Amino acid sequence: MQRYGIDVWGEDDFIIDGDKVKVNHLSSPALYDIVTHIRSKGTKGPLLLRFPHLLKKQISLIYETFENSFKEIEYKGTFQAVFPLKVNQYQDFLHSLLECSKEFDYGLEAGSKAELIIAMSHINKDAPISVNGFKDKEMIELGVLSAKMGQNITLTIEGINELESIIEVTKNMKKPLPKIGIRIKLHSMGAGIWAKSGGINSKFGLTSSELIEAIELLKEHKLLDLFTIIHFHIGSQMTNITNLKKALREAGNIYADLIKLGATNLNSINLGGGLGVEYTQNEAFAEITYSLREYASDTTFMLQSIAKAKNVKEPNIIIESGRFIAASSAVLVAPVFELFWEEYSQKALKLKQKNPPLIEELNELYKYINSKNALEYLHDSIDHLNSLLTLFDLGYIDLIDRSNSEILTHLIIKKAIVLLKDKPVRELTQIQDKIQEKYLINFSIFQSLPDFWGLGQRFPVMPLAKLDSKPTRSASLWDITCDSDGEIAFDSKNPLFLHSVDIDKEDYFLGFFKVGAYQEVLGMKHNLFSRPTTATIVINEKNYEIKALTQSDALIDILEDLSYNPVAIKKKLYQNIENSPFIQKEKKQSVADHIDIILQENGYLKTVN
Ligand SMILES: *Cc1c(COP(=O)(O)O)cnc(C)c1O
Repeated sequence: MQRYGIDVWGEDDFIIDGDKVKVNHLSSPALYDIVTHIRSKGTKGPLLLRFPHLLKKQISLIYETFENSFKEIEYKGTFQAVFPLKVNQYQDFLHSLLECSKEFDYGLEAGSKAELIIAMSHINKDAPISVNGFKDKEMIELGVLSAKMGQNITLTIEGINELESIIEVTKNMKKPLPKIGIRIKLHSMGAGIWAKSGGINSKFGLTSSELIEAIELLKEHKLLDLFTIIHFHIGSQMTNITNLKKALREAGNIYADLIKLGATNLNSINLGGGLGVEYTQNEAFAEITYSLREYASDTTFMLQSIAKAKNVKEPNIIIESGRFIAASSAVLVAPVFELFWEEYSQKALKLKQKNPPLIEELNELYKYINSKNALEYLHDSIDHLNSLLTLFDLGYIDLIDRSNSEILTHLIIKKAIVLLKDKPVRELTQIQDKIQEKYLINFSIFQSLPDFWGLGQRFPVMPLAKLDSKPTRSASLWDITCDSDGEIAFDSKNPLFLHSVDIDKEDYFLGFFKVGAYQEVLGMKHNLFSRPTTATIVINEKNYEIKALTQSDALIDILEDLSYNPVAIKKKLYQNIENSPFIQKEKKQSVADHIDIILQENGYLKTVN
């Protein structure tokens, strides 16, 4: 049975049971049932499901793994983690995150004024706030205000000029003041498509000579006691651990030497984020070559060795991994709107009394295809179709002939697929490459999978039901934007097979997994498809609850967002109806009412239910 690589990417978060994929937690509801339940209340289009228990699972995992590594080698520092807000700042998400992380004092990391305001207004008491990114004086003032509110805040400076601003803003101020962190520029680099944050050419951080200058400045202005943390970040989606080890060796030595230079309150290293997530559905292409356990034990071991060798205190460890925490917690569910080739039915054939010989041959192939000759007939039919299309271009056959050729070929393909389905011939995979079904999906790749559009990042995808029957169609997925980039093409190295379904009779949903990090907030309104409807699903012993159901934006609100005046738009539409000679007078009101309803709905397409 096709398992869609769930054993490679699934982390036991989901299980296949019978014909459905289920959430592997307490009452284990099927995703299909959750989706049909929500849609029965009138929701249309794609749906983003959030699972707070999966957030909690990742947060607990990080704390427990580090605690265990600490115990194993009797590491003396403490462990803390913060969530980088840039991964997802939406309120529904953040509420779940804070709710499920209270027991850990899990903190927040902010990289802009807006994010800092979110952190200052939402942080659980005593949990740390870490501020990275470029800062002006106003942002530093906000940080000082946070400290005055009693919050545990650290301003991490990215350059000497920020330190100068801090000195200026805090002049003559009494404590409490924010703690000061310094981002260090490492010569070690990350690897992979996201690795731009490390290295000597990175946008951020102080070089060694700047570090020495910073210490002198801090000393001179009597702020050295606020300097407690050094920070680095080697980039997102770390695929191997070698680069981290290099960075740790470098950072550990910098830490020890800064203490020797007089930074006596320096007690922590913030390792940044970058813990990787396995997105692949094919074991052969697994990307992440280390475990969290390895990451934690390598880190603690390395930092302990350096501290011992240089005779300084073992540093407290802070991490800011976001992708690892959030990715698995959301699933995007999108309904299939149409299967293109499924449209080719026998009914549409318009064979003539006398047909071109190649079409007669196609018809014969269709009649006599069986399990023995299926592969050969399939080849022949594709060859015939190619010849017939050339004949059409040269003017030898007409449009009706051409339509008959296309229909017959696709009928043969469909029959062949059924006949060959239990014989996994190697050649068949190659043929599948040529005879893909195009699934039109009721969602926007630009809105919901922006990293696929921008970086070619693939996300695990599978149908939510029919998992007890063999999928026979090689699939390419098209979204409903009118942009040719809105396609996830069939990839013969990592093939996706889906079921043959009649969308007029039944719904067919695809789930895209691990979309909980970055996708929501990077999503763009290309073609004016807005954010999908989102729902938070809390699973309990017997059932589940749908919390925080936020509907996708109404059309009129999408327009208002682009600074159109909704009142003016409605007025113009009503006037057009009123003035139209083609709409009967007594119908005008109901037409206007109907437009009103459409304006209040979201822009996605309507499928069966
Ligand atoms: C983006 C970022 C993170 C989070 O990275 P992930 O790959 O999501 O773990 C952490 N720290 C800093 C400074 C960042 O810029």
